Amino acid sequence: MSILVIKNAQVFAPQPLGVQDLVVAGGKIVAMGAHLELSTQGIEVTTLDAEGAYLIPGLVDPLAHITGGGGEGGFHTRTPEMQLSEATLAGVTTLVAGLGTDATTRTLPDLLAKAHALTHEGLSVYTYTGSYELPARTVTGSVRDDIILIDKCIGVGEVAIADHRGSQPDYRELAKVAAEARVGGMLSGKRGIVFVHVGGAASQLGLISEVADKTDIPISQFYPTHLNRSSALLAQGVALAGQGLMLDVTASTTPELLAAGELSAAQALAEALAQGLDENMISFSSDGNASLPEFNAKGELTGLKVGRIQAMHDSLTEAVKAHNLPLEQVIKAVSSNAARNLGLTTKGHIKVGADADLVLLDPASLAVEHVFAQGEQMVAAGKAIRRGTFE
Ligand code: ZN
Repeated sequence: MSILVIKNAQVFAPQPLGVQDLVVAGGKIVAMGAHLELSTQGIEVTTLDAEGAYLIPGLVDPLAHITGGGGEGGFHTRTPEMQLSEATLAGVTTLVAGLGTDATTRTLPDLLAKAHALTHEGLSVYTYTGSYELPARTVTGSVRDDIILIDKCIGVGEVAIADHRGSQPDYRELAKVAAEARVGGMLSGKRGIVFVHVGGAASQLGLISEVADKTDIPISQFYPTHLNRSSALLAQGVALAGQGLMLDVTASTTPELLAAGELSAAQALAEALAQGLDENMISFSSDGNASLPEFNAKGELTGLKVGRIQAMHDSLTEAVKAHNLPLEQVIKAVSSNAARNLGLTTKGHIKVGADADLVLLDPASLAVEHVFAQGEQMVAAGKAIRRGTFE
C-alpha cells in the first residue's frame, strides 16, 4: 500500500479551509493540516503538488441510469449504458443507480450487475429498487426485503408521480411503498429513501403532501427530483422544504426543454436560494443516460436526447460563473447534501476519516484536473487514466 500526499490545495470541505496538505491511505483521508511534515522512511509516498487548485469532495449523484433508460419512442430509442470515465471526468465518484420508465426490458438484476461492475472499476455505487411503477418491481419480492438484504440497495425509485408514463398511483399506494422503504431502512441502518420522479402534470407534489398529511410517514422519507421542470414546481418544492423535504433538480437538459420552461439546475439553485430555501435542502442529480424526451400537449413524443453525467460538473461551473453563487454553497448541492440525505456518512465531505473521494479543480476555469475515488487516481491533468473494461 502506498501513501498519497496532496500538497498546497485550497480545500473546500465544503466550507473553505484555506491551503491545506492532505494525507490519503487505504482509501481514506488520514490527516489534513497546513504544511504537514511526514516521516515516511521506508513507505512508498506519491506526492501531488496541487499548487493552489481547489480541492472539493467527489460529486455525489443521487440518480444515474447506468444501464441506460428511455425507449419512449420504441426499442431503437433505448439509451446506452454509462461508462466509467463519463462519471470520473465529471468529478462524480459516488452515484445511485435506478430504473425509470422501462422495468420490462430493463431489470433490477441487470442494474445490480452493472453497479457491481462500476464498483469494481473504482466508483462507489448504490441502487434503488423499483422503477416508475407501483406496485414496485423488486428482486426478492418486497421493497423492504430488497433494502435489508441487498447491500447496495438504499431505497426505492424513481417512483413516478404526476406523469403520464407513471402507474397513476394514489396516495395510499405511495404511502405503502414509503412504509416498506422506511422499515427496510430502519432495520438495515440505511436511509430507505423514496426517490420520486415528478412529471409535468398539474398535480405536481400533491401526492407527497397528501401522504405526509394523511399518514404517519414523514415528508423527509421522500426525495423528489426534476423540480427544475418549471418555476412553479420549484416554488412548490421550496415551500415543502421547510417541512423537511429535500429537493433535487436535474442537471441534464436540452435547449428544447429550456425553451419549454425548464430551468437549468444552476438557475434553479439560484432561484430557490433567492426564495429563501435553506442551502442544505437542495441537490443536483445528473439523470445520466436517461432519455430526455419531449412531448407535445397531446402527449405525443416530438424528440428525444440522452442525459449526460457530465452535466453535474457543467452545472457546478454554471452556478459559480453565471449565477455568482459561492463555491461552498454549490458543493453542497453537488455533493454534501445528497450524501447526507442518502445516509452516506463517509461521502460528501473532506475531513479526516472520510473516504478519499477528491476532485481538484482549476481555480480560474473550475475545469476538472485530478480525480481520486477512494484514494485511487481516476483522472490526471483532465484525462481519464483509468478506463472501464470496455472503453
Ligand atoms: Zn425521472
